[in-house]
Amino acid sequence: MTKAAKSDKDARRDKVIEVLNKARAMELYAISQYMIHHYALDAMDYGELAKNMKLVAIDEMRHAEQFAERIKELGGEPGTDLSDKVQMGQDVPKIFDFDAVVEDVTIDAYNQWLSVCREMGDNVSVKLFEAIIDEEQTHFNHFENVSSHIVRLGDAYLSKIAGTPSSTGAASKGFVLAGGGGE
Ligand code: FE
Ligand code: FE
Repeated sequence: MTKAAKSDKDARRDKVIEVLNKARAMELYAISQYMIHHYALDAMDYGELAKNMKLVAIDEMRHAEQFAERIKELGGEPGTDLSDKVQMGQDVPKIFDFDAVVEDVTIDAYNQWLSVCREMGDNVSVKLFEAIIDEEQTHFNHFENVSSHIVRLGDAYLSKIAGTPSSTGAASKGFVLAGGGGE
């Protein structure tokens, strides 16, 4: 390989590592934000909503790992930054509205970064983004679904959830792998 060809290849690889790390920062933010929401829902005794929030956070941990593994395969260093500041003290309607927006923004960003990976000729990273975007869509649908129930039914919906169990079982696979999103 000529020197010029190698430096072009390195530059394209660096660009892919950069977008993979931006995606990883969004995952690390989502993990922290959803765990805060999980604790809040659990404290308010909305067990089923708390359980699903925890399972979604576990999905995001898996995504953060998948991005880190690809970054390392490419010779990069997985970052530890969060893409945003974690919000505290939101009420229940706000939580689900807010998290639907988090997923929506994530899907849009990942679609753009998928295009970057395609432009840079990295099909493995394209496929990784594709697979993760599908899971973010499942999360979006879930948050949007809960949010619309709260808007339409309000307390009638929330009182049905109050006191439901919050256990995720011993070996939790997260929301998507546990078959979530089929509602
Ligand atoms: Fe994710
Ligand atoms: Fe997600």
